[in-house]
Amino acid sequence: MRADQLDFYSLVEFAPDRGAIEFSGRRAILLHTDAMGALRKELVETLGADIAKVILTRYGFSCGHEDAGLLPGFMHPDTVEEFVRGGPRVHMFSGIAEVETHSVEVDRERGHYRMSGFWRHSYEAEQHLRLFGRSDEAVCWTLAGYASGFASYVFQTDMICVEHACEGRGDDRCAWTLMNATDCAPEFSGLRKYFQPLNIKDRINVLEGKVYERTRELEASEQRYRNLIEDLPEMVFALHVSGRMLQLNKAGRTRLGISPEQLPRMRLKDLVLPAYRTAAANFLKSIATARTATRLDVVMCDAEGCPVPMRLQVEPVLKGDRIVGYSGLAIDITAQQERERKLTEYAARLENREQQIQDIINDAVYILDLDGRFSFVNARMAELLGVPADRAIGCSCGELMLHSSAQRVERDFRRRLNGECGPPFEIMLAASGAPNRLLEVSSAVLSTDGGPEGVIGVARDITARREMERQLAQANRLSSLGQFASGIAHEINNPLGLVSGFAEELQALMEAIPGARSNPDFDVLRQGLTTIQEQAQRCKAITDNLLLFSRKQAVPLEVVDAGMLVRERLSAYRDIGLTRGLEVDLSLDAALPRIATNPTLLDQVLRNLIRNAGDAMNGAGRVSVILRPAEGGVDLEVLDEGPGLPAGVIDHVFDPFFTTKAPGRGTGLGLSICYGIMTELGGRIECGNRPEGGAWFRLHLPADAAGADTSMP
Ligand code: ADP
Repeated sequence: MRADQLDFYSLVEFAPDRGAIEFSGRRAILLHTDAMGALRKELVETLGADIAKVILTRYGFSCGHEDAGLLPGFMHPDTVEEFVRGGPRVHMFSGIAEVETHSVEVDRERGHYRMSGFWRHSYEAEQHLRLFGRSDEAVCWTLAGYASGFASYVFQTDMICVEHACEGRGDDRCAWTLMNATDCAPEFSGLRKYFQPLNIKDRINVLEGKVYERTRELEASEQRYRNLIEDLPEMVFALHVSGRMLQLNKAGRTRLGISPEQLPRMRLKDLVLPAYRTAAANFLKSIATARTATRLDVVMCDAEGCPVPMRLQVEPVLKGDRIVGYSGLAIDITAQQERERKLTEYAARLENREQQIQDIINDAVYILDLDGRFSFVNARMAELLGVPADRAIGCSCGELMLHSSAQRVERDFRRRLNGECGPPFEIMLAASGAPNRLLEVSSAVLSTDGGPEGVIGVARDITARREMERQLAQANRLSSLGQFASGIAHEINNPLGLVSGFAEELQALMEAIPGARSNPDFDVLRQGLTTIQEQAQRCKAITDNLLLFSRKQAVPLEVVDAGMLVRERLSAYRDIGLTRGLEVDLSLDAALPRIATNPTLLDQVLRNLIRNAGDAMNGAGRVSVILRPAEGGVDLEVLDEGPGLPAGVIDHVFDPFFTTKAPGRGTGLGLSICYGIMTELGGRIECGNRPEGGAWFRLHLPADAAGADTSMP
C-alpha cells in the first residue's frame, strides 16, 4: 500500500461507551492542544527552556518511534519510501499539523537517507506563540522529535529532523529536513543532545554545586560591598524593615558620635532631633507605600551636640515583591541650605527691585498671558485701570477697560501672537472718579525659552500732550482769526465813520432847511438818516468788539488780591441781578499769591463766564467759582452743572461769532473777547467738561512778577 492510500478511519476506533479510543491499534486519548501548552509552560518555567526542549523532543521521538513500529501492521507498505512517508500521514491524522513531504531520498547501499517537507498550522508553534510570544528559534520540538523517531525506526539508523523555518518564529510555515545524524552540519550538531536520555538527578547535583558556588560569590561580593560602603566619605546606612539600624558606615558613626555597639539598638528616628522623630517614622511608612526612593530633610545632632541639617535619601530593599529593609544616604545640606537661602533672598530682592523700577517708570506697563489676562501691571497701570495691582491680575481687558479700548488691546494682542507687527495705537482709560486718560500703547511678544509667554504693552499717557497740541492749534487759529478780524474791523471802521458822519451832516443840513421841521415829507428822510446812524453805531460796536478780541495793546495792570476782587464782583453781580436764579459758590484757597491784572477787563471776562454758565443751565443751578494757587499765578475756575461743551463745540467756543444760542440771544463774541482780554492780561483761558457733567472754564491769572512768591497772609 502507498502512504497516500492510508485511511484515517482504518486506524481509529472510537468506543465512547467504554471510555476508550484506539489509534493504530493502541489506546489513545483526546487532549486539547491547550493542555499540551499548559504542560509545556510548566516545564519551561520549572526546568528552564533548554531542559523543556530536551523533554519534549524526546517525548516526540518516542511517539514517532512507537508509531513506526505499529504502522506496518495496518499499512503493509510497498517500499521503504512509502513506509517513511506513512509517518507524516499518521502525524497529520493525530491533528499535530498539516504535513507536506516534498522529497524522499533513499540510498540503502550507503545507508544514506534524506527527507524534507513543510508543516502548517503546527499545534506546537500555535501554543508557543500563545504562551510565550514570538520565539527567536524553531519551537516545534515534539514534531521534530516525532519525525526523528519515526525515521530512525524506518531506516534503522539515527536520524535527526532539523526545523529551519518555524511559524513560532514568525515564518509563514515550518520547514524541516530529516537527515542521518552523522550528516548533521556542525551548526546543528548541538541538536544531538535533544535525543540523548536525560539524567535529571545528575543535573540537579550539578545545579546544587553551582548554587553553592554562587552563594559563596555573593557572600564575598556582599562583604566587598560592605567594605566599600564602610569607607565612603558620605553617610550611608541600612535599616531592617522594622526601622532598626543594621549598618551605619564609619563616616556616619563618626559624624553622629555613635559606636558600633550602640547601633543595633537604634532606629532611624533616634538619629534625628526630637522635633523630626514623627516625620522620620512616617517617612519609612511612606517609602513602604510608594516603594520608591524618597527624600526627607531633617536635623540631626552631630558628635559635638550641634544640630546639622541633613537630607535623607532612602529607598526600599526589595526581595521579589516584599520589602526586606531600607538603604539610604544622609547628606549634610548646611551649605546647600545656605545657598538656597541666599538665592531666595536674591530672587526676592531682584523681584522687588524690578517692581520698584517698574513703578518708578511713569509709563504704564502690562503683560497679558496667553489667555489674554493680565499677569502683570505696574503701579502706574494699576492707577490708570483704577484697581490695585493684585486685583488686576487674572482679569481680562474687558473687565477693567472701556469696551472700545479693551477691543483695541485684544485685537493688538491677537495680532502680536500671530507674528504681525504694527504701529503704536491709542486707547482711552477711565478709572472711576478720575479724568479720562488718553494712552499711546506700544506692544511686543514676550517670550521665554523661545516660546511666547504673552504680550507686553507699554502705555504712555499722552493726555497732556494732546491737550497742549489742541491748545496750540487753537491759539494759532485764534491768532490768525484775530489778525483777520482786526483787519476787517479797521477796514470797516473808516467807511463806517464816513457813513455815520455824512448821515449826521445830512441831518443837520436838512434841519437847517426852512419849514423842514413842520414838513411831514421830511419825517421819512429824518427817520432814514437816524436809522443809518443807529446801524452805523451798531456796526461800530461790533468792530470795536472784534478789535477787543484781537487787540494787542498794553493795558495798565494793578497788583490786586484776586480773592477779594472776585468776591466783590460776585456780590455786585448779585446786586444787579446777573446771578438771579443761580446758586454761586465761591471757594478760595487760603494761600493765593497777589496777581497783576486789570480789574475792569477781568470783570468783563468773569461777567461773561457767569452769564454763559447761567445760560447753559437755563438760568437755574449751581455755579462754582474756585480760586487756587497755580504755577506762576492763580487759577480761577468757573464750573457749572449744565450740559457741558459738545465735541464739535469745544474747539470753536473762542472763535468770533461762534454761538449755539438762538438768533438774537447770542452774538458769539463773548468768549472771543474773553480770549482777547486774557491774552492781553498775559494769562490764558481754557475750557473743558467736568467728569460729573457740566463745563469748566479756567482763567490763568499771572502773579505779580515783583512779588510772585508772596502769597496772601
Ligand atoms: P454767545 O454766548 O453769544 O453764544 P460766547 O462766545 O460767549 O457767545 O459763547 C460761544 C458758545 O460757547 C455759546 O454759544 C455756547 O455754545 C458755548 N458756551 C459758552 N459757555 C458755555 C457753558 N458754560 N456751557 C455750555 N456751552 C457754553
